[in-house]
Amino acid sequence: MAGTDFRLYNTLTRKLESFSPADGETVRIYACGPTVYRPAHLGNFRTFLFEDLLRRVIALRGWKIFQVMNLTDVDDKIIKSASERGISIGEVTAPITKIFHDDRRFLRIQDAELYPKATDHIPEMIAIVKRLVERKLAYLADDGSVYFAIDKFKDYGKLSRLDTREVRAGARVLQDDYSKENAQDFALWKSAKPEDEATGAAWGSPWGRGRPGWHLECSAMAMRYLGETLDIHCGGIDLIFPHHEDEIAQSEGATGKPFSRFWCHGEFLLTEGSKMAKRLGNVATVQDLRDQNIPAAAFRHFVFSTHYRKQLNMSGEALEASMEGVRRIADFAERLAEAKAATPELEKIAAEADAEVTAALFDDLNAPIALGALFTFVRKANAELDRNGVDKRALAKARAVFARINSVLDVVPEAAGPDPELAQWVDERLAARKTARAERDFAKADAIRAEIEARGVAIEDTPHGTKWKTAR
Ligand SMILES: [Zn+2]
Repeated sequence: MAGTDFRLYNTLTRKLESFSPADGETVRIYACGPTVYRPAHLGNFRTFLFEDLLRRVIALRGWKIFQVMNLTDVDDKIIKSASERGISIGEVTAPITKIFHDDRRFLRIQDAELYPKATDHIPEMIAIVKRLVERKLAYLADDGSVYFAIDKFKDYGKLSRLDTREVRAGARVLQDDYSKENAQDFALWKSAKPEDEATGAAWGSPWGRGRPGWHLECSAMAMRYLGETLDIHCGGIDLIFPHHEDEIAQSEGATGKPFSRFWCHGEFLLTEGSKMAKRLGNVATVQDLRDQNIPAAAFRHFVFSTHYRKQLNMSGEALEASMEGVRRIADFAERLAEAKAATPELEKIAAEADAEVTAALFDDLNAPIALGALFTFVRKANAELDRNGVDKRALAKARAVFARINSVLDVVPEAAGPDPELAQWVDERLAARKTARAERDFAKADAIRAEIEARGVAIEDTPHGTKWKTAR
């Protein structure tokens, strides 16, 4: 039996640490969500899949989960798009939000407990700014915006480990903006411009009409739903600086408490310059996966074949290899479902696979090792099933272990749905064949079988009737 120690890499300490929820029961997770102004690309979804893996491994460990993922529905790009089209920010973000959830469900990313929108939490954001102003960590500048004073917060830079001199040199800052006391101070509250008012992106505040800064919304929604100290805050590695650094400054500046115990970050998906195989065109969004008939299971397999803290290169060859990999898993799943019994050895093989996969997943979500153990299990179990054993308990154990592993990885593609026209034709021909057989006209029955197989359909007579599938 595998141990139950659960280790995660904490960006804050740059160490692998043993993790358990603060209350011993429920893991409270905040994950930075998409900015809903255009469909998220597959790089974003790599991060969301890492968070899906985290969720599922936490469930496997036996803890409950409360995950919040925000939807950024007010920002410069959204306002620009709304302004150009003469519509409100809500009209820009509503259809994109729908696409995000459709894409997420296509990839089998489990629902977070909450998907709060920034525009629904303006009062919470204003409350944080007020506290920061009271504590002299924020100031109202001449331009009507409120800024966070980073040199008043001594821990600034503790997550990214950039000291303020580096920040000064590296950050993209408006050097011509003289209203800030320090070029690196970031906006908590931005005074409203005419396009903000025109697109519905301005709200009243003690500092006049304006809108929240991006960093502020995450602090406000995270603390609103998860308390002042979270168990885990996650996101893509590109968010460490400045976004997460600024979230820490605002939250800890306001509460005086640690904002999150663990910070977990997923690495990049590299697509640029990657050469896709001829059969696959360029794949950048979930819609492209659908258009090219790349199953969600294959994309999950592809993503999980590299550890979440390593860069992942997308190529046509890699996607095709994953499509082939999940086909093997699907064949095995079908075989396991249809088997009647197995050899006793299968029970031991299943127990080994279970222990190996669990140990890998509890060790900083090591999905590539878990996938490797799954394929070893498939290979060994197939060999046992070839031996036509009679042990029902061994088979039940193998089924349970396979279901448990797949509850995390979720890499069995949906049964290939043949087109409805073909399905109807096959059903009609099979009915005719059944009639011919009932009338003992075997020549006719064989002719119909040949006719069906000529269209790439394999049929199999079983005690429960005739089954068919399109040849892969
Ligand atoms: Zn965030």
